[in-house]
Order: sequence, then structure tokens, then C-alpha cells
Amino acid sequence: MNGGAVFGGMDAGGHEQVIYCHNPDIGLRAIVAIHDTTLGPALGGLRMWPYDDEGAALTDVLRLSRGMTYKNALAGLEHGGGKAVIIGDPAVDRTEARMRCFGRFLDTLGGRYITAEDVGMTAADMEYILQETPWVTGTHEYRGGSGDPSPFTAQGAVAGIRACLRERFGHDRIGDAGYAVQGAGHVGTELIKRLRDHDARVFVCDVDPARVQHAVDEYGCVPVDSDGLFDTGAEVFVPCALGGVINPTTLPRLRCDIVAGAANNQLSTTDEGDELDRLGIVYAPDYAINAGGVMNVSLEMQGYSAERAHAMAERIEDTMTAIFARARRDGIPTWLAADRLAEARIAERATLRSTAPGTPAGAMQVPSGRH
Ligand code: NAD
Repeated sequence: MNGGAVFGGMDAGGHEQVIYCHNPDIGLRAIVAIHDTTLGPALGGLRMWPYDDEGAALTDVLRLSRGMTYKNALAGLEHGGGKAVIIGDPAVDRTEARMRCFGRFLDTLGGRYITAEDVGMTAADMEYILQETPWVTGTHEYRGGSGDPSPFTAQGAVAGIRACLRERFGHDRIGDAGYAVQGAGHVGTELIKRLRDHDARVFVCDVDPARVQHAVDEYGCVPVDSDGLFDTGAEVFVPCALGGVINPTTLPRLRCDIVAGAANNQLSTTDEGDELDRLGIVYAPDYAINAGGVMNVSLEMQGYSAERAHAMAERIEDTMTAIFARARRDGIPTWLAADRLAEARIAERATLRSTAPGTPAGAMQVPSGRH
């Protein structure tokens, strides 16, 4: 992508600001994209990935930051959407110097963008960033952080599944359905644990055999391979691994009634979302059902409370119910209903901003207890 493509990409996605961060001595090349701060300072993760070129990194950060605007809006957060990417291989490029350098660049934004852990990052990297700026979440508990978000993501997903069951079967008894879980990683395992607490039948598949074994030994799941995953007879398909899992190859194989899991970007394109709707399969829009994690980290900026984070994650059940109601009212697929609800909240807040004085969006006080 050439330089002229930056404004083009921003125009197409409706982005507010893109910041390039470059320190050749340290070898840091990072891009921060702030999509929309109508609801408040942008919040979204920092990803490190060995992009083929900077055009690919820009495309990714523009896409991801826009997604965060929708996710944060629907989650009811006082945050807009943003994201950052560092071009590099996490296996070798995740150094203290680079992370602290990124932290210094982040500090210059004065809280317009707040970062968090994403693909390729660890809590330890967030700690390095915290050395340089308070505008980082997902640090360890002893630093006033919220720790691993996965339990909150899983809790929110279970709350969302209850709404899906009601929509499809008219009841919300978790234990009365079977679940085919793809991916027994951090969030998958937390979800499995909660489903098994209800004595649900849970099938599990992971490319890592040790993770499958753990789910079998610890929680009594039934192991299946990636092919068998579609033939379990489970009513609920639960993607908790990679994106793009609902695609033209997998769609004809789906025999489930509900698709509801924590993975990001489950639909390879929105066409698949339309097709799920046509097939009568209830689809829980991914960014709505997996928002428990971002709800959790957002509380760090206000003084963290696990109790509040749990209560917020439970609200995902209501959000999902509202999505289904909107989809029915407008005769549209659920992915589009979620988008419309998110856009409506942003539009309402934009109106509010023009009529009432208050804290300007995008500006924030340094959170207490940090620096
Ligand atoms: P993770 O890396 O801990 O777990 C992912 C698991 O998926 C791993 O065990 C991996 O071996 C497995 N996997 C990869 N490819 C697979 C395949 N083709 N088939 C079966 N298993 C496969 O990651 P995580 O934190 O558990 O996140 C899982 C998904 O949920 C991701 O899409 C992530 O973006 C999303 N998500 C996670 C959180 C969170 O709080 N952890 C929050 C929101 C969204």
C-alpha cells in the first residue's frame, strides 16, 4: 500500500487518526489507528505480527480498530475503538526496549488511545509499557491490573448462550444442550469448565493434543478431531480458536442450531452471516458475545473491581436478547442487527455531545493509582 492509501483507507473506514511510530535504532515500527472517540478514549489491543509489508499492517490495524468501535459501543463501554500493531515476529522481536519505546509513543497521545494485550503479546509486555505510560490495561493484578480476561470472556459467552438457547428452543437450560467446542485454549477451557458445571455434553477439538487431553481428564469432555467436530450432533457450535471458521467450506457441514463462541471474526465474510440466517441457525455475533474480556480491562481505567466485571459480563445475555429482537423487527441477520445497535448508540451519543458540555471525548484524566 503506498502513502496515498492511508487517507483512502481512513476515508473508507471512517477513521479519525493514524499514527506511525518509528525508532530505527531500536527496530520499532508500529502503527496506531484510532477509529472513533465519540463514546470516549479509544480502547483496543496491541498486536505483534510479522506482516509481509507495512501496507498489510495498515490494512489490519484499520480493520481491527473499526471492529473495536463496534465492540466497545455494544458492550456499553465509555470507550471508542482503537488498535495498534507492531511489525515483528513475537518469537524474537518482543524486547523490553521495543515495548518501552512503544510505551513512550503511546504516552504522547495523552490517553486518546488505551492499549491492551492482543495476539503476540503477554502481560509482561504490558508491564514494560506501563513503565512509560499509564495508558495501558491488562497488567498484573499487583499493579492494579485485572489479570487474565479469559474467565470474564467465558462468563459473558455463557450468558450469551443462554439468550441463544431461549431464542432457538424457548428455554435457557445450559445443561440440556450439547456443545462442540473448537479450541481449548485460555477462553475455551474456561468456557468448557462452565458448561460442564451444568453437566452439559461437551465435545472438544484442538490442534494441540495436550489441550484436548486436559479437557478430557479435567472436565470429562468427549474428544473429537477437526473433521468429527461437525458430526457430533451437538446443538451448539462453539468457536474458540481462530477467525474465519464459518466459511464456504464449513457452512454446508454445520448441523447445529446455534453458533455461539468466543473467537473473533468467526464469519469469513458477512455473506456467511446471511447464510446462517437463511439456514435458521442462530448466530451470536462474535464481538457481542465475547465482550467480557474488554469489559473487564475497561474497568482498570476506573479502579478495578472484579465484582463489577462479573456483573457486566452477565449483561451480555440482555445484549444478545436485544440483538435478536432487532433482527426480528427489521427482518435482518443477527450480525447486521448487532452493527445497527452499535451504530445507534454512537449516533445518540454524538447528538448528546453536541448539546451538553462535559469531558471532551478522547481526553481522559490519568487513572488513579497509576504513575
Ligand atoms: P489461545 O491461544 O489460548 O487458544 C486458542 C486455542 O485454539 C489453542 O489451544 C490452539 O491450539 C487452538 N487452535 C488453533 N487452531 C485450531 C484449529 N484449527 N482447530 C482447533 N483448535 C485450534 O487463545 P484464547 O485467548 O483462548 O482466544 C481464543 C479465541 O477467542 C481467539 O479468537 C481470541 O481472539 C478470542 N477472544 C479471546 C478473549 C480472551 O479473553 N482470551 C477475548 C475475546 C476474544
